[in-house]
Amino acid sequence: MRDETTTPTLRRCIGSARFGIEPHEAPVEEFPRQPSQRDGLARMCRVHRNEYTAGLARDAKARKAAASADVGTTGVAAEEVPPAAEQPAAAPEPDQKRTRRASAPEHAAIGEVAAE
Ligand SMILES: [Zn+2]
Repeated sequence: MRDETTTPTLRRCIGSARFGIEPHEAPVEEFPRQPSQRDGLARMCRVHRNEYTAGLARDAKARKAAASADVGTTGVAAEEVPPAAEQPAAAPEPDQKRTRRASAPEHAAIGEVAAE
């Protein structure tokens, strides 16, 4: 193992066709650790991995913006909330709105009928 340190070990950076990152070879030291990978190293070098994740974030943001354009202001509010807190809070909300919306016209209708 010690002999190998004299010659830099090259590792293939897979790049990303999606974000225009060319695959290339780079020294192993350039690759960040990624325990989920079989050999414990990321498949992209540090620079390109940053570019890739930045590209993914940009895409996600664009997708979110496009989605929130239909929904209205909910997309803006969701971005300010941390993802962990977002999910439990989002679940009970539609039910509350639904019951409020459902009960309000009912009372109005009953009131109108009773008046007549
Ligand atoms: Zn690279």
